[in-house]
Parts: sequence; C-alpha cells; structure tokens
Amino acid sequence: MPKDPVCKMEISREDAAAESEYKGNTYYFCSEECKESFEKQPDRYAERAKKAV
Ligand SMILES: [Zn+2]
Repeated sequence: MPKDPVCKMEISREDAAAESEYKGNTYYFCSEECKESFEKQPDRYAERAKKAV
C-alpha cells in the first residue's frame, strides 16, 4: 500500500485525497495539506519515502 510521504500514513490509491508526480514516481496524500507540504520540499519527502520502503 502506498504511503503518504509527509505524515507516513498508509493510504490506498482510492482513498488518497491528492496525488503528485515527482521524478517519475507518483505519491499519494491523505489531504491537500500533505500534498502542499510535499510540493514545498519534494526532495526531502521523496528521500524519506524511499527509506520507508
Ligand atoms: Zn498525510
């Protein structure tokens, strides 16, 4: 199951409130707020998401 890279909540694609593409990967978010945080610092969060896998 994909993880929201900002708050680390597990989230199904159907339940995602928002999604964003970054460097060829799609990230899913529980809320627009998390998406906004991600888009402010995508490198930081994308890096974290990789480690979580
Ligand atoms: Zn979230």
